[in-house]
Amino acid sequence: AAILEVDQVGKRYGNIIALSGISTSVRAGEVTCVLGDNGAGKSTFIKILAGAHEHSEGVLRIDGEECRLSSPREALEAGVATVYQDLAVVPLMPVWRNFFLGSELTKGRGPLRRLDVAGMKRTTKAELSAMGIDLRDVDQPIGTLSGGERQCVAIARAVYFGARVLILDEPTAALGVKQSGVVLKYIAKARDRGLGVVFITHNPHHAYPVGDRFMLLRRGKSMGDFPKSEMTLDD
Ligand code: ADP
Ligand code: ADP
Repeated sequence: AAILEVDQVGKRYGNIIALSGISTSVRAGEVTCVLGDNGAGKSTFIKILAGAHEHSEGVLRIDGEECRLSSPREALEAGVATVYQDLAVVPLMPVWRNFFLGSELTKGRGPLRRLDVAGMKRTTKAELSAMGIDLRDVDQPIGTLSGGERQCVAIARAVYFGARVLILDEPTAALGVKQSGVVLKYIAKARDRGLGVVFITHNPHHAYPVGDRFMLLRRGKSMGDFPKSEMTLDD
């Protein structure tokens, strides 16, 4: 069943129609890829789902109930976590500290127990390890990790704090081939943990291997929402 439904959603900035008539469903254990070139409306779509911009038209539903995601806090509380390309991490803070940053916003979804510092460090290490990243030292500043590792920490964190929908903003765009591969594997793990993943990218080669559904955006409109069986990759 769909966790999140996007039904005929549109967004205007003044006279500019950035998005119109966008419909798709985000299902548990599926990766929905949103593909489009510059200016297609990808960032606008992310901001609507992340609660950073209110849509001007249409309806969002979670578990079949209409919802307004009118602030980032509301989106998080509804179980919609967004990992931006330029990650909301504090580079000089240790990995474990970043892992628990903002965790009060997910109250009631994540762990019920309050942890002391040692507990937070242990948990960070264990959660990263469960997702396949073994960090020797969760005390190191997160800024010393590679871009790919930072994306993975952010994804692991969303999983741990009970996100049901994970929105990924160009998670592989700034990465080389090897790092991209690591992040794609991580996306697959989040999917296997039952999250509904929305993977926004301009790169079909990154989307294809992990995607279950593909929505193509062009100039603010959806060119369709296709299952993988209907997609092929040229060259
Ligand atoms: P993408 O992320 O795919 O490059 P955007 O969502 O950023 O696309 O942009 C979609 C369209 O909306 C573009 O024509 C862009 O110029 C316009 N747009 C985006 N944000 C704003 C804004 N805050 N004010 C006015 N126009 C905007
Ligand atoms: P924000 O969420 O802060 O609006 P944006 O990236 O959408 O983030 O826009 C940043 C700033 O640039 C905003 O003030 C927005 O109005 C402006 N902006 C972005 N794209 C356009 C555009 N195509 N035309 C006019 N203004 C834009």
